[in-house]
Amino acid sequence: MTQTLNFRPRAAVVGAGPNGLTAAAVLARQGWQVDVYERADVVGGAASSAAVLGEGTVVDLGAAAHPFGAASPVFEELDLAAHGLVWRHSDHAMAHPLEDRPAPVLNRGLEETAAGLGVDGPAWRRLHADLVNHIDQHLANLLKPMLGIPRHPLRMLTFGPPALLSAQRLSGLAFQEEATRALFAGSSVHAMAPPGHPFTGAFGLLFGALGMTRGWPVAEGGTGAITRALESVVREAGGTIHTGVHVDDLRALPRTDATILNLTTRQVLSLKGLALPRATRARLQRWRYGTGTYKIDYLLDGPVPWRDTHVGQASTVHVGGTIEEIQRAEKEAAQGTLPERPFVMVCQQQAADPSRATGPAQGKTVIWAYAHVPHGFVEERPGQVAKLIETQIERFAPGFRDRVVRKVETSPQDLADWNPNIVGGDIAGGAMTGLQSLLRPGLTVNPYRLADGVYLASGSTPPGAGVHGMPGAWAARAAAADFDRLH
Ligand SMILES: Cc1cc2nc3c(=O)[nH]c(=O)nc-3n(C[C@H](O)[C@H](O)[C@H](O)COP(=O)(O)OP(=O)(O)OC[C@H]3O[C@@H](n4cnc5c(N)ncnc54)[C@H](O)[C@@H]3O)c2cc1C
Repeated sequence: MTQTLNFRPRAAVVGAGPNGLTAAAVLARQGWQVDVYERADVVGGAASSAAVLGEGTVVDLGAAAHPFGAASPVFEELDLAAHGLVWRHSDHAMAHPLEDRPAPVLNRGLEETAAGLGVDGPAWRRLHADLVNHIDQHLANLLKPMLGIPRHPLRMLTFGPPALLSAQRLSGLAFQEEATRALFAGSSVHAMAPPGHPFTGAFGLLFGALGMTRGWPVAEGGTGAITRALESVVREAGGTIHTGVHVDDLRALPRTDATILNLTTRQVLSLKGLALPRATRARLQRWRYGTGTYKIDYLLDGPVPWRDTHVGQASTVHVGGTIEEIQRAEKEAAQGTLPERPFVMVCQQQAADPSRATGPAQGKTVIWAYAHVPHGFVEERPGQVAKLIETQIERFAPGFRDRVVRKVETSPQDLADWNPNIVGGDIAGGAMTGLQSLLRPGLTVNPYRLADGVYLASGSTPPGAGVHGMPGAWAARAAAADFDRLH
């Protein structure tokens, strides 16, 4: 192991998002001398928070809900709780309001969820039982590269067949009720793909099972608490973090034994001083980016007036109506048309964490909402997307607009200007459709190694997008294994 050597191997990490910081933490804990270079003035990337809605508010600038964070083996291993991270759960993990009936909800617990799904309860139980009862084994199979033998082959045999189907087909086969199909489809749309696409069943199953086992918590005090905890691990282990340093030429960095790039493929291709093997370059050039995101942070003068009051007790709300509506909206966004009724993700962090509005903001409600829009979408007129998002929320929460005190809009271009990893507003580091959802970035047995001593760790590598640090952990392990082999 590297820590037994009497000299310290050295690593540079470019980017201090959750994956860059996790890679840095893993290597620093193993005794490596680690320097992290982050272009922004603060660490965190798309997992950070700030008071953008005024004093006393805590706004998640990117990620907000953390089913994968709460389930992450590397976050557990790094003991982020000892560095200040506290998960906070709302009464319901997720809710899916519908116009003419009670909202189906995802609860922590298979029985608790199934019990609320009426005639579909037994089918919901059957579909999720193996995943829920053996969640750790399934996560060991899924939070790693897909090529190779699964850690628990029998579990993969249970998960694989339904997961290969589209969420639309799977929920059509399994459930009788429109509400249950909508609940399942909403989870699948975290793939940022239409629920009619192959493999989207996998996302519906996994997000649902995580909700029923680990919950979909938020981080107390804001998502930034996760990356602050990672930063604390890095510093405690002797690592150094340099902020305000944009790296566009690797020759500007000190010589290292490993350089870990917390970037997506397009940025890697534009880096100077990086000699990529021709096949690797070609593979990265074939990478496709996905649907964009248009985000709005709202300060409200009270809770969202959901028609079904249960929805107010869920930190995540999927606003998109029936599975057919969601399919239409996601298909249009993927094909480059702004949907009239976009799929809107709403996060009501305060349902779990009251610290999001304090002091001068006491009594107010902070939420964020984002719509899936075409990649790189630019509005024809200001307020175009805000109107669609608000009309969608109003369908299920009449009077919502009247509650808005302040809002801050962030377009796909704004997101990319803030964090260049969000190419065209794609928050997943590359489309999660087709084989790209399984093989990131493309077909290769070592997705993390780009060239001798250079590694990739981001949503463009397995297991993909989300704040769980696993790409960072695997890239760090690949770097350490290569170093041990060569020394
Ligand atoms: C609006 C939004 C909502 C989201 N919601 C959720 C959610 O609820 N739950 C969830 O799990 N995930 C969510 N995500 C996705 C999640 O945030 C990302 O998958 C995750 O942050 C990716 O982590 P990363 O470390 O790979 O990259 P990032 O978090 O993007 O960090 C990359 C870092 O690299 C830095 N950087 C880039 N280029 C350079 C350079 N040349 N030199 C130096 N530094 C550089 C950037 O400034 C940034 O700090 C959301 C994302 C967004 C934007």
